[in-house]
Amino acid sequence: SAAIKPLVAGNWKMNGLKASQAEVYKMIAGISDDLADSVDAMICAPATLIAAIAEKAGSGALSVGGQDCHTAVSGAHTGDISAEMLADAGAKAVIVGHSERRTDHAESDVDVNEKARAAWRAGLVAIVCVGETEAERKAGQALAIVDRQLNGSVPDGATAENCVIAYEPVWAIGTGLTPTAGDVEEMHKAMRDNLSARFGGEGASMRLLYGGSVKPGNARELMSVANVDGALVGGASLKAEDFLGILAAY
Ligand code: PEP
Repeated sequence: SAAIKPLVAGNWKMNGLKASQAEVYKMIAGISDDLADSVDAMICAPATLIAAIAEKAGSGALSVGGQDCHTAVSGAHTGDISAEMLADAGAKAVIVGHSERRTDHAESDVDVNEKARAAWRAGLVAIVCVGETEAERKAGQALAIVDRQLNGSVPDGATAENCVIAYEPVWAIGTGLTPTAGDVEEMHKAMRDNLSARFGGEGASMRLLYGGSVKPGNARELMSVANVDGALVGGASLKAEDFLGILAAY
């Protein structure tokens, strides 16, 4: 995966008020031209902040994403946000199938697949999240679960341009726990094999992010694992210092 430009994407989850935009402006200021040549940076902000951040970020080194989208273009879906609305606000990508959505909103692989296609319809990159629970890993099911999630959640037509995969073991999200480098390598190799078999060269060059308790202190080790083409970062993406510390792995 040496030719793949990595992506470090922050997921702010349900965090961030108007004042928090200042952290993004520090991030933008902290990304040198050299760093921007080596790695793409993105913040998946709460919907309330996307337009303001996208306006400040312009077409520079940091892009803006959403965290979820509805499958329809518009209509009677109170409280929901369409992929077209995210694109209109300046988003370039949207996370679909985050484990918190799968748990809190009972999203299935079929739902996630439909959301990824909605993202593409709106011209957004779909960041499709997969990952096993602690019980599934302990039962020796991690590889099988992620394989099944990939098959169900990633639609036909996925390319290296329109799709990013994020492997996020549920037990590593927000816990400070991470898999061993060996376990990450094994999973990312299995995901690469799945995607290459299904999508050929597009699957071979699709970005595979690792997510789950990535911090400045462990980023270099995790990002150097074979077939890890960047990170999806929750908690450590809220502060510019931490996010820039992770980007410094590149
Ligand atoms: C996430 O929710 O996508 C995530 C990786 O969170 P954290 O980095 O806080 O574990």
